[in-house]
Amino acid sequence: MKVTRRDLLKVAGAGAGAIALGGLGVSYLVTESYAKKLKTKGAKEVRSICPFCAVSCRFIAHVKYGKVVSTEGDPGYPISEGALCAKGATMNSMVNSEHRLLKPLYRAPFSEKWEEKSYSWMIDKLAKKIKETRDKTFTLKNAEGKVVNRLETMFHMGSSQMSNEEAAVVVQAQRALGLLYIDHQARI
Ligand code: SF4
Repeated sequence: MKVTRRDLLKVAGAGAGAIALGGLGVSYLVTESYAKKLKTKGAKEVRSICPFCAVSCRFIAHVKYGKVVSTEGDPGYPISEGALCAKGATMNSMVNSEHRLLKPLYRAPFSEKWEEKSYSWMIDKLAKKIKETRDKTFTLKNAEGKVVNRLETMFHMGSSQMSNEEAAVVVQAQRALGLLYIDHQARI
């Protein structure tokens, strides 16, 4: 059906938009059927806290058949009132992204390809490398003879995918090794 500018002006002037749009042949059926297919329909709402920084915004996870199908900010939470920053807003993809790595990948020196490894293989490899580096380069005393107990040849960069609690434990472990250079992405 062809709708002219005059037809639209008549609709606005009438002040009965819904009825008049119906008269112009605009159907509401499409909207209705889309609402029926919403992925959150019938899902259980589970409230949780964003783990990515100390603001701790609350979000709602929509869970269906044991799987998270959607996440959104919780408008009932007084601190953030439903808002999430870019990291919190992508919470759903942290769980469901097809790019999410589920196994450790290792690339040998000078190799061009990544190999899938088990977690135990990877932890063992990292532990050996860390020990080797620490044994070779640990600084017990500085140039003035003062005990400093530090390791300046390693740097630790934390991931924003870690929760605050995980980050706290990891930083303590790095300090115990003597690291000075530690940074973490999860901050405002
Ligand atoms: S990372 Fe963003 S969404 Fe998550 S708690 Fe911090 S400010 Fe809130």
